[in-house]
Amino acid sequence: MNKKKIYDFHTHISSLEVFEAYYDQDIIPLINCQSRDEFKSLMNNREAFSGDRTRALDKVYYSMGIHPFDADIIGQQFGSSYEDLIKEANLIGEIGMDACWCDTPFEDQERAFIMSLDLAKKYNKPVILHTKMMEAKIYEILRAYDLDMVIHWYSCDKYVKEFIDLGCHFTVGPAIFVDYNVRNMVKLLPLDRILVETDGVEALEWLFKKKFDPRNLRNTLEAVIQELADIKQVSFDLMSDYLLANSERLLRKE
Ligand SMILES: [Zn+2]
Repeated sequence: MNKKKIYDFHTHISSLEVFEAYYDQDIIPLINCQSRDEFKSLMNNREAFSGDRTRALDKVYYSMGIHPFDADIIGQQFGSSYEDLIKEANLIGEIGMDACWCDTPFEDQERAFIMSLDLAKKYNKPVILHTKMMEAKIYEILRAYDLDMVIHWYSCDKYVKEFIDLGCHFTVGPAIFVDYNVRNMVKLLPLDRILVETDGVEALEWLFKKKFDPRNLRNTLEAVIQELADIKQVSFDLMSDYLLANSERLLRKE
């Protein structure tokens, strides 16, 4: 079977088993690292994976950045090497602000966010954004930046048009099946701004409230693509082609 490549444009991978499941199903993950240790485990998985296979791993793509939850402990997460580490990453993130799931002081969140955006500008990298309940503030901050931007798991019923006008892309995952705001957002998105994501096995287990078998990653992403195609009234193949092109453009693969 000649399956098309799918990019999971925002995920977290904690085990070699899941890492293998991705490549075995022709899914290219964009692996998010929120710390130096997570980056090390990614490199270890890559080495273990390519060590016992005949086919070489094309390339491992990853994003790196200080998560808003950890905005007050950059030193603990990255040591003094934050800039050195993120300048080698494909994308910077997830970065942003959050008023829902953490109580990290807003001054720390804003400072870490702006520092990360400045580094993205300096090294000409796209960013992945976490905007939970801070959409208006983040919109105001982003207006001053000319960057390639990806908003991850957006679920707010406001500001979608504003973020589209800023040039943002949006990663859409299985929340499309359960979240009315996500479905409405998708109706507004141009086809060349959409990407797909799982946010990792743990997020899928949280969303579906049950154990998730990583061998179902491809089925899960294909179901999301079919749903996107239905909402946008295009074929599955055309939707897949857009997702592939959008992903590779942001990864600067052209
Ligand atoms: Zn994530």
